[in-house]
Amino acid sequence: MVEIKDILDRLNITEQNHGITTGLQSWPGSGETLVSHSPVNGGKIAEVSQAGRADYDQVIEKSQEAFKAWRLLPAPKRGEIIRQMGEELRKKKQELGTLVSYEMGKSLQEGLGEVQEMIDICDFAVGISRQLYGLTMHSERPQHRMYEQWHPIGIVGIISAFNFPVAVWSWNAMIAWVCGDVCVWKPSEKTPLTALACQSIIKIVLENNNLPEGISSIVTGGRDVGKWLAEDPRVALVSATGSTPMGRSVGEAVARRLGKSLLELGGNNAIIVTPSADLSIAVPGIVFGAVGTAGQRCTSTRRIIVHESIYEDLENRLVKAYSQLKIGNPLDASNHVGPLIDQLAVEKYLDTVGKVKQAGGKFIVEPGVLSGEGFSSGCYVNPCIAEVQNDYEIVQHETFAPILYLIKYSEIEEAIAIQNDVPQGLSSAIFTLNLRESELFLSQQGSDCGIANVNIGTSGAEIGGAFGGEKETGGGRESGSDAWKAYMRRQTNTINYGTALPLAQGIKFEF
Ligand code: NAD
Repeated sequence: MVEIKDILDRLNITEQNHGITTGLQSWPGSGETLVSHSPVNGGKIAEVSQAGRADYDQVIEKSQEAFKAWRLLPAPKRGEIIRQMGEELRKKKQELGTLVSYEMGKSLQEGLGEVQEMIDICDFAVGISRQLYGLTMHSERPQHRMYEQWHPIGIVGIISAFNFPVAVWSWNAMIAWVCGDVCVWKPSEKTPLTALACQSIIKIVLENNNLPEGISSIVTGGRDVGKWLAEDPRVALVSATGSTPMGRSVGEAVARRLGKSLLELGGNNAIIVTPSADLSIAVPGIVFGAVGTAGQRCTSTRRIIVHESIYEDLENRLVKAYSQLKIGNPLDASNHVGPLIDQLAVEKYLDTVGKVKQAGGKFIVEPGVLSGEGFSSGCYVNPCIAEVQNDYEIVQHETFAPILYLIKYSEIEEAIAIQNDVPQGLSSAIFTLNLRESELFLSQQGSDCGIANVNIGTSGAEIGGAFGGEKETGGGRESGSDAWKAYMRRQTNTINYGTALPLAQGIKFEF
């Protein structure tokens, strides 16, 4: 087993840490001290000071200054800085991945995978730095040229959730930086140390390149600090990842000042399993999607909509697969399922279990909280499966825990209607070998989600695609494809190189 003390040392995390940094400088915030505990064993890892309002304002002022310089660096040169950050992340992948696992509770393999995602987005951002393309249009006026260009927008505020404590920041920051913006990150108060570790890794690059402070800042704190970002007109874009109630609050605050927001909120993701499905790939896809990260991914599989003709077969296979799951310390590679993030999450899990039973649901794999040796944090729970109806109120909600719902269908159109009949719209999947079913699912009559997969589960997106969802998931897209456009402002330019001044739309204005 790894020695956590060594890992913390190598990431420059001490017993007491400054929670405010502008990249090169850091200082103790005037807010209350935050204590980070590990859900693995309940032990205290370290303390971090939180931002007071004056700390926050100081960070924003430094960021405004930094933006003036950073935006002047040509985009490919900014890409070169990101390339170097990717190199530093490669060197520290093991340490950072381990800390992610220890502070958040996901398996070591998933912790390392999260850091790999950061490295991948660096590579992607380097490429994007040479592809911030605008279009050229043909002007209707003679001797006129019309084109559009993309400029940086300024300060990007990043509010992140505990479950992807570092990757979500990198999806935003690496792209925002090549676009010429500067970033102020408010990490989850449940995982502050992984954020400080990221900053310590990229600080080497900022120093080596003599860059000013304020390009990459952190303001540690809870929802108050998040609200400051949301309400602050100096922050051009607020990219917020978290629960739907959080997104509603941030979205409203940003809209009130007519700012820009990018919202990545909760999901209620379903997999449709049809009669022709290859169950040998569907079952591992379902089980990984439902219990991976202990059901704490925004893309976790929450609902299985299964055809009546294979319902019993699939049910038996899932029960068998669940009986083989090993629950325990996520740093031990032989375990499949680690802890929930904290006791509050366990309470929510138990509350949901109660509500499912009350509504008439039947558990075919029993829930429960584990106790005894190895489970002293009280955060380990049994992944469970319940037979339910889609219209139970509790099924309409996202519970961030490994609770899987089984729902029966008889016609494919009905299955798609059930899949769409929730307030959220993040990820969806169908397992089928039938071309018509697959194409229907992907068509405009099909899944209403931002992500729709065939013969792959709902979780585990690649960074190359645009990531996000519809309805209460918030509508934002980040990471790959052309998601970079959210971090820039579009300017349309028309240039007259002739000697006359013809007006558009044939208007004559003579005097
Ligand atoms: P959360 O909403 O409790 O907190 C997320 C972040 O928002 C934290 O940094 C928190 O301090 C901040 N925050 C909370 N209320 C705020 C407010 N009113 N104003 C400003 N900031 C506020 O979420 P969580 O428990 O950390 O994460 C789990 C949730 O995140 C789930 O719903 C999950 O689906 C969602 N999530 C979504 C995505 C996605 O890309 N769609 C990715 C990861 C997680």
